[in-house]
Amino acid sequence: MAEGQRPPEVDRIAASQKAVAARRARASLKRDLSTRVVSPQEVLRRALEDPTTPSGTMRVTEFLTAIPAIGVGKRDRILEELGISPVKRLGGLGARQQRELQTWLDWRVPQGRARQGRSRLLVLAGPTAVGKGTVAAKIREDHPDIMLSVSATTRAPRPGEQDGVHYFFVDDAEFDRMIAAGELLEWATVHNRHRYGTPRGPIEKALAEGRSVLLEIDLQGARQVRESDPSATLVFLLPPSWDELVNRLVGRGTEDAEERARRLRTAKTELAFQNEFDFRVVNEDVATAAREVVDLSEASAR
Ligand code: 5GP
Repeated sequence: MAEGQRPPEVDRIAASQKAVAARRARASLKRDLSTRVVSPQEVLRRALEDPTTPSGTMRVTEFLTAIPAIGVGKRDRILEELGISPVKRLGGLGARQQRELQTWLDWRVPQGRARQGRSRLLVLAGPTAVGKGTVAAKIREDHPDIMLSVSATTRAPRPGEQDGVHYFFVDDAEFDRMIAAGELLEWATVHNRHRYGTPRGPIEKALAEGRSVLLEIDLQGARQVRESDPSATLVFLLPPSWDELVNRLVGRGTEDAEERARRLRTAKTELAFQNEFDFRVVNEDVATAAREVVDLSEASAR
């Protein structure tokens, strides 16, 4: 192109700034999709309503891989199945393609079925004070068919906690013995303090009986389970926001300032590891989060 035909310098700068802003907006939308802050159905709705929005200009390829548990291979198979070209943008889908994608999303989400070959062993982990315990308790209440593993711990019981129900409260010597005897499926020192571990026996028994098993454990434990049983389904419970997590932690009032600071440090590190998980569930409200986790356990058992 001859020099004289180029757009003026200012226009080119403005255009490139606009492109950068649009890319940023799409990246942030993809993050929201992958952390399930926004549903894929909602993004599709926005795209069709206005093809110039970040949703509308997002490529179908980017859209699909932002959905938890969809990788590149699966994405390509889905596009082929739906008859959608990978170069398409969401806002540019034809009427038939929109319908196909919508139907497919309704089948696949909110929970997204677990991958084939997943076991009934479901691990619920997430940063401290995100509400794992409350979600797990809700599941125990509504779904007695799912076995909730009772961990052993060296920490002292809190008021209202019962031995054998919330934890098996053991001393250091007993915990050492359990490790040495190979009785623990995984164990970890949590918040650099007390040890927590999952007794292996009850889990193997429940799995053998065809029941689903739910472990509510910390990140280190989740990694160990993944190593010893790669077919386990790992679910990461997310707070709606970091501020909310801090509020919940402070609001609980069961820990002193030093302990709270320690737990927040752990939580920051833990949040960074969510990508290792198969699914993310945002704990906006306990009943919904509990239902989503159960849906995953059922999907896993198929
Ligand atoms: P809390 O002391 O508040 O009951 O639990 C502290 C942390 O220990 C929580 O993040 C909880 O998920 C974790 N935890 C509880 N049981 C186990 C377990 O058996 N194994 C591991 N690795 N972590 C556990």
